[in-house]
Amino acid sequence: YVQELLQFENTFDGFKKAIEPLAERLKIGRVAGHLHIEANIKSVQDEDRHDVFYAGDGLYSEKGKYQKTFQAVENGYCELTAFPYENVEWSEEEKEDIALLLEVLYLHVTRSRLIRKTREYSYCNLITMLPNSAGFVRIIQQHLQDQTICQYNGFYFNLKSFGLLSYKYGGAEGDLMIKRYAVAVRKWLAEDETLAHLGGDNFMALVKKSRTAEFLHLLEKVEVTAKYPVYIAAAAGAYEITAKDRDPGNIMNGLSIAVSYARQHKLPYAFLTDKMLEETVDVQRMEQMLPEALEKREFQVYYQPKVDIRTGQIVGTEALARWIHNGEVIQPFRFIPTMERNGFIIHLDLYILKRVCEAINEWIEKGYKLVPISVNISRNDISGVGHDPRMLAERIIRIIKEYDIDPKYIIIEVTETTEASEQKELYDFIKNMSEAGIATSIDDFGTGCSTLSVLRDFPVNEIKIDRSFINHEAFSTQDQIIIKSIIQMARQLNLNVITEGVETEEQARFLLELGCNHAQGYLYDKPLEQSAFESRLSVGGYDRKI
Ligand code: C2E
Ligand code: CA
Ligand code: CA
Repeated sequence: YVQELLQFENTFDGFKKAIEPLAERLKIGRVAGHLHIEANIKSVQDEDRHDVFYAGDGLYSEKGKYQKTFQAVENGYCELTAFPYENVEWSEEEKEDIALLLEVLYLHVTRSRLIRKTREYSYCNLITMLPNSAGFVRIIQQHLQDQTICQYNGFYFNLKSFGLLSYKYGGAEGDLMIKRYAVAVRKWLAEDETLAHLGGDNFMALVKKSRTAEFLHLLEKVEVTAKYPVYIAAAAGAYEITAKDRDPGNIMNGLSIAVSYARQHKLPYAFLTDKMLEETVDVQRMEQMLPEALEKREFQVYYQPKVDIRTGQIVGTEALARWIHNGEVIQPFRFIPTMERNGFIIHLDLYILKRVCEAINEWIEKGYKLVPISVNISRNDISGVGHDPRMLAERIIRIIKEYDIDPKYIIIEVTETTEASEQKELYDFIKNMSEAGIATSIDDFGTGCSTLSVLRDFPVNEIKIDRSFINHEAFSTQDQIIIKSIIQMARQLNLNVITEGVETEEQARFLLELGCNHAQGYLYDKPLEQSAFESRLSVGGYDRKI
């Protein structure tokens, strides 16, 4: 009969069904004379007992009864009571047997329950009680078996700026928010559709193909009501499941790639494409190679001069990373984004800074007339996970000291930010640099939207107008007006202005007219290998004067 108990369904009724015949049978009392065992199942209202397997206080004897209480099902607990049948008096020895019997029964019941629970829990997320990734895979497998999978599209989504929300409301409140979010989305879904919670703020779903557009629309703004309503947007990766899909792993993988793409490009959603797949393979290969490449010093610094348009003189230079791999020169767009994503970029940036410091010392030795050198520092180094603007500033200052470089020869280029949360970090960083006598330049200026406040409040020394302003075919009067006002404003604030991506004399002339005296671009030189730059530096500039 213990076997029978092990079969019980993990529900209130199921347990009752299993235990009742057993108790009935035990009445015959073969074990210890005439024995009556009653299984009394009571319900529990108290939610706190949900996950308690054992709520009993052991065995006790009261007026010849033996009792064991424990929680047996989600919403109820069981009292196993043994007492003599037909007024038989038990001997002490018999009492001990009864006690033992109940104990064994109890152990088996809880054990089987524990096994079931563990099995079940390994398929669900404990915060939301939704299927987790293993549970999601199991559901996909079921659909594959039933040949129903093609009716659905797959989705992987995570909440935008959830980190910020949970920071604002606290961790426990964050969990609650996730629960409420899950409830809201689940409520929208149909019975046969699936919502899975992978943990954190990551969800997956299977939604009927016909409801895809509606679902994506929902994800743009899910109302989560707590004390006050909060609206949560998600970035989603979507995957069109076809009859060719036979492997849940493939579907999940495709979803991950699509969601990363959506996040990276700040899109509300992105469907997986073949191109994304190819790129990922490329990126993954790259990711594995990067640490070794840095160790083997495969990165080189190229230098692109900054030129005074009026005189053609070199007034500075920008250090740009190149990866020399198997004799091939790999351009930054192929490795910088990957490095920014995995946080590896800080190692590259500081590596480049060190190489620049070395170069400066070499140039001093060779007797060149030095110009300030701009080094790019990724935004990710400043406000990425686990990074701290002060610490970064300290590391930069320490390197410059170590190489005994006068800080006036280093300019740090950072891009502006549109995220309010990052503004403060950027400010701290720039302030720290400024206090150490290191100039900063705002790169790609004009592409974000926080530009004006940066100009006014941040102790920056230079702005670098993004090349997209002048370097595109449809250069409009509107562009002109914007550039003109940026230049005027910067000059009033006593900032250096340089425009990058200057390719033609016409552009240079135009910039000069607007009051921007410095330019960088193919008109003068592409980024040069160190030796080529040195030749240029030794003659001091270009013949071209405008
Ligand atoms: P950036 O900082 O905006 O650098 C300017 C980019 O514009 C360089 O591309 C440069 O070669 C290119 N460029 C310069 N003049 C012209 C021109 O006249 N026309 C056109 N079309 N392009 C021009 P590059 O070297 O490929 O670097 C691309 C980006 O990679 C850089 O953009 C920068 O954001 C990043 N990067 C490069 N080296 C580093 C590094 O050491 N650390 C970090 N964090 N980022 C780096
Ligand atoms: Ca730059
Ligand atoms: Ca730039």
